[in-house]
Amino acid sequence: MRLEPVIGLEIHVQLKTASKMFCGCSNRGEFEPPNTTVCPVCLGHPGTLPVINGQALAFGVLIGRALGCRIADRSKFDRKNYFYPDLPKGYQISQFDLPIALGGKVNLEITGKGGETRQVTTRINRLHLEEDAAKLHHAADRSSSLVDFNRSGTPLAEIVTEPDLRSPAEAKAFLQELRLIMRYLGVSDADMEKGHLRCDANISLREIVDEPREEGWAQQLNPKTEIKNLNTFRAVERALEYEIKRQTGLWLDSKMPTVQSTRGWDETRGLTVEQRTKEEAFDYRYFPEPDLPPLNLHDIEGLLDRPLPELPDERRRRFMREYGFTPADARTLCDAKEMSEFAERVMSELDEWISSSKADGPEPLTPERRVRLVSGWLLTKLRGVLSERKIGLDGTEMTPENFAELLSLIHTGQVTGPSALTLLEEMVDTGADPSIIMKEKNLGRLDDDDGLRAIIANVIAANDKAVNDWRQGKENALQFLIGQTMKATKGKADPEDVRIRLTEALDNG
Ligand SMILES: [Zn+2]
Repeated sequence: MRLEPVIGLEIHVQLKTASKMFCGCSNRGEFEPPNTTVCPVCLGHPGTLPVINGQALAFGVLIGRALGCRIADRSKFDRKNYFYPDLPKGYQISQFDLPIALGGKVNLEITGKGGETRQVTTRINRLHLEEDAAKLHHAADRSSSLVDFNRSGTPLAEIVTEPDLRSPAEAKAFLQELRLIMRYLGVSDADMEKGHLRCDANISLREIVDEPREEGWAQQLNPKTEIKNLNTFRAVERALEYEIKRQTGLWLDSKMPTVQSTRGWDETRGLTVEQRTKEEAFDYRYFPEPDLPPLNLHDIEGLLDRPLPELPDERRRRFMREYGFTPADARTLCDAKEMSEFAERVMSELDEWISSSKADGPEPLTPERRVRLVSGWLLTKLRGVLSERKIGLDGTEMTPENFAELLSLIHTGQVTGPSALTLLEEMVDTGADPSIIMKEKNLGRLDDDDGLRAIIANVIAANDKAVNDWRQGKENALQFLIGQTMKATKGKADPEDVRIRLTEALDNG
């Protein structure tokens, strides 16, 4: 028996609006003392009236368009009734049968273990808006619980996929792409650890039927298990891997799930625990929210014609096409929006620096050399310096203009690689101009004849043994002497230049 997993996701995205979903309270309550960003509306006092947040609606529509959804003509809000201590109204305002957006898809490129890539399309079922509940803080000994209402009424967009994902790795990749899309749109910080992006995963197994398959085979789904409480990308992947093993065991024992169930992920024990089955499922008794008008989204001025920013997938493709970045480099750059924007400005500044530079490079800056220079220094050197300091691009004052100037100094041979790295570290720490640091710290390339000649003469005089070894044909000895010279110049000479001059000096000596 061959089984395949059928996975769908439900994702809640916390929207980065200025105020809450249905009242004017600040939406930055997570940074404020508990119960300070509250009012009678989000505390659920009787007699209060909700008002729809226009920015949340605009963000929701923007997400819908970015995911290729159809924006609904008619949409409305509904009451989802249930009791819980974090929900003082006794209901949540959500959307039931008329969400703001329907349909849509996300294309993903999945890289396999052997480096091979394949395209995966995940269809989006729907997108709706709702309000978040308050946050409960349980005492460690479970003797008491406290409620923080700052989060109560925070706008959420819930995105539901079709069951199109076929592996835990695909589910994780989808979520990571969705996070990136939210960040490119600027609608959410989408930080999973902070709860800005929350995910429930639905999974069932089905038997793979050999061709020819009956019509509708792909639509045949078995009762699913919903896994809750997935707070990290890693947890999504691990919980799904665990469920596949558990459910495979049930299938092999002919005890495959016959009813829908809900399980919670226990991170410490690394397993899922049954919470309830379909028979015990809540009946939320949805009904239209009487205090909010139904919406015709196509009639709201300016809602559907906001320009859609460039999305990660488009940007990756453009970086490959326009600049010649490799697929892997384009992906790494675009995986952080700020890094991709920085790279783009470096690219355009670099041409100007090179054309205005007085010194000529050893070779013209062809597009191939340019992209190698930028990806090498940006993705390897700069990322290394930033990670050593445990900061991101936002943690340094260094501008793309200055970074491009550094690259032009490297390209035109005014600094050597080791000196350029010292320059880069200084630039990251101080935000200063590379040519100024170069002068102040005397890091410019050492190529004046007398200076370098004198250093080489000293190195030869001080290393009799290596010089003799070299005369006896030991190639390693030359490497040693080059190393000694580079050290004496503090890395400011060009190693190739040193090799030529050193060989000349030895030949003449
Ligand atoms: Zn409020």
